[in-house]
Amino acid sequence: MSAFNVAKFGGTSVADFTAMSRCAAIVKNNPYTKLVVSSACSGVTNLLVELANGVADPNERSSIIEKIRGIHVAVIDQLQQPSEVTEAIDEIIVSITQAAESASLQPNLKLTDHLVSCGELMSTHLLTQVFVEHGVESLRFDIRDVLKTNSLFGSAEPDLEQTREQAQKLLSPLCEQSVVITQGFIGSDSEGSTTTLGRGGSDYSAALIAEAINAAGLEIWTDVPGIYTTDPRIAPAAKPIPEISFSEASEAANFGAKILHPSTLLPALRHHIPVFVGSSKAPEQGGTWIRDRVASAPLFRALTLRGNQTMVTLKSINMYQAYGFLAEVFQILAKHKVSVDLITTSEVSVSLTLDQTNTAGGAPQLPIAAQAELEQLCSVKVEQNLSLVALIGNNMGQARGTAKQIFSTLEEYNLRMICYGASNHNLCFLMAESDARLAVQQLHQELFE
Ligand code: ADP
Ligand code: ASP
Ligand code: MG
Repeated sequence: MSAFNVAKFGGTSVADFTAMSRCAAIVKNNPYTKLVVSSACSGVTNLLVELANGVADPNERSSIIEKIRGIHVAVIDQLQQPSEVTEAIDEIIVSITQAAESASLQPNLKLTDHLVSCGELMSTHLLTQVFVEHGVESLRFDIRDVLKTNSLFGSAEPDLEQTREQAQKLLSPLCEQSVVITQGFIGSDSEGSTTTLGRGGSDYSAALIAEAINAAGLEIWTDVPGIYTTDPRIAPAAKPIPEISFSEASEAANFGAKILHPSTLLPALRHHIPVFVGSSKAPEQGGTWIRDRVASAPLFRALTLRGNQTMVTLKSINMYQAYGFLAEVFQILAKHKVSVDLITTSEVSVSLTLDQTNTAGGAPQLPIAAQAELEQLCSVKVEQNLSLVALIGNNMGQARGTAKQIFSTLEEYNLRMICYGASNHNLCFLMAESDARLAVQQLHQELFE
């Protein structure tokens, strides 16, 4: 069996008919691209999350649903053969209307996943028809038959073995026949209920599917021509990076470069699948290659910013020279399925930040029950409105003077937490949300411009 490429198109790449036509041209241009993973049309997931969080006013609900419908109808209006797609979209809109009403009474994570999955379910109907009308032999596939996950609604974890088995059985043979267009972001649990992989999860889906079908390459098509030295929306002088290693790119994704979902590179790394990131608006501009081995390993590679951080500080004098305090803390956190991101400790206290990619959005919360259990052990302080800034590079632990250069740029700021040393590839710190953009701009100017 030949090895194919998997191409993922993000929300802006499938925003409307013109954008979808560009995707068709990109796939037509490369006969090896046989599997297409699509996000929802730009803006649709945000609207669905709004509905899922519960909109009590029926008029407001209708107006959101009308907006969602309008985005899809605008594409349908440009199709030559719209009838089947119109029917499919109408059916999904009915299901959205019902689910939004239920969510307005009692929102919950399972219902949220059911609702937000409708974005990808709709976009793939449209995209398949656009491809067909552009002469690309294509068919639409429901990925919930392949991407199997646990039941952690909002940030479900894939079952790799089952996903591989299903992909080899159902997807690979189809890719031999035509281009297969499927949904990113969504999967299903053992009961058949729809799950999601967390916001921005289509990148991760594409990588998981690429791994499962032994793809030769993974293309991530977005609205910027590659990974930049920092988010170009924050620092307009940011420059694209032609080539970056898996380790550096994983750190960048993990610490908030929104361009890739944090887990995207794990499957690609496991199977040594080269990843390309480029702009579907300007494919001719090239992009970034993420590979096992790259030609250069600069001290500073990129800067990332992640908002919505929650920091928890636990203090107890019992911690001083005591065995097992941290083990107890982590046992409680694990029991309540709280995933920890960063951690620093002193003799009597430990500070940690909570992980966040959940589909429902917002700052991650320490569950009330977990807080109550921790309070039996120590004092607990929860702080929000914080951002995490990370500097990504190589051999940062070994280079002399690195810290001085960075911290002198940040003299004016109050840094709430610093993590340095665990990885040679990053140095990160937590600061007030209101300061973080400016800090990134200043650091970028000092280290990259
Ligand atoms: P998609 O819908 O295609 O998944 P996203 O909006 O999720 O696109 O990601 C692309 C955006 O990521 C860019 O428009 C850019 O603002 C942002 N971004 C953040 N960090 C970076 C970075 N280091 N390089 C490029 N883009 C970045
Ligand atoms: N549509 C989902 C989101 O907006 C997944 C994705 O685009 O990657 O988060
Ligand atoms: Mg994205």
